[in-house]
Formats: sequence, structure tokens, C-alpha cells
Amino acid sequence: MATSTGADLPTVDDDSRVYWDGYREGRFLIARCGACGRVHHYPRPICPFCWSDQVAPSPASGRATLYTYSTVYMNDLAPFRDRLPYVAAMVDLEEGPRVMTTVVGCEPAELRVGMALVVDFQPLSDELTAPVFRPAL
Ligand SMILES: [Zn+2]
Repeated sequence: MATSTGADLPTVDDDSRVYWDGYREGRFLIARCGACGRVHHYPRPICPFCWSDQVAPSPASGRATLYTYSTVYMNDLAPFRDRLPYVAAMVDLEEGPRVMTTVVGCEPAELRVGMALVVDFQPLSDELTAPVFRPAL
């Protein structure tokens, strides 16, 4: 794992802590609105569809499809320079939200738009774990 300077790590606050705790425990949580029933991700305390604050974590299936991607071969900024090449991707979660992430576990040349992916979890530090995606078997 690349060494983190700390500056590249997400800031965990009271609204996002439950999601980060879930990732660390291997549970992929997304946000569901109790008012309109729609889901979104990344989680926000206010529903982006109806502006309700009745948003709560909800388990997601972890299944997704690859919408688009780019393989990054050059990036001089930490921690990315230690991860080259890496895949910056947008994936469509089974529940609907389109999210920015990275795809791991295969060569970039093996990626195909529309391919099935599943969530995996990648530690960023002792406290933080990020959801990533890998090809579904
Ligand atoms: Zn809503």
C-alpha cells in the first residue's frame, strides 16, 4: 500500500462516519432517503432529489457495471504516483447511482464498458477503508 501523507485521505465527519465504519467492516452502504425512497452515493445528509434530511445508510448489493473508465499512466501527486497505472472509473451501482471509483484486480486491457463488477474494500490507512470495484467472477 502506498504511504499516505494524510493530506490525501478523506475527512470523516459525523454525517459520513457510519459509511466509513461500514467500509472498514466490509459492508457497502449507500444513502437512502426516507421521504422519497431514492438512493444516492456518495452519501449526503440532504437528499439530492427531494431535499429531505431523512437520509439513512442502506446496504447495497455491491454489484455494479462499468460505465466508463480511463487508465492513468502519469500522475506525479502522492499517493497516486505510487499506484501507477491505475484505473479511474465511473460505475453504475445496481441500485442506480453512478459513482466515481477505481477498478482493481485486472489488467486495464481486460476492462470492457458494461462489464460486471463487484465491490471490494481497500485500506487507505489504519482507520480508513475505501470501496473499490473488481471484475465479477
Ligand atoms: Zn428524497
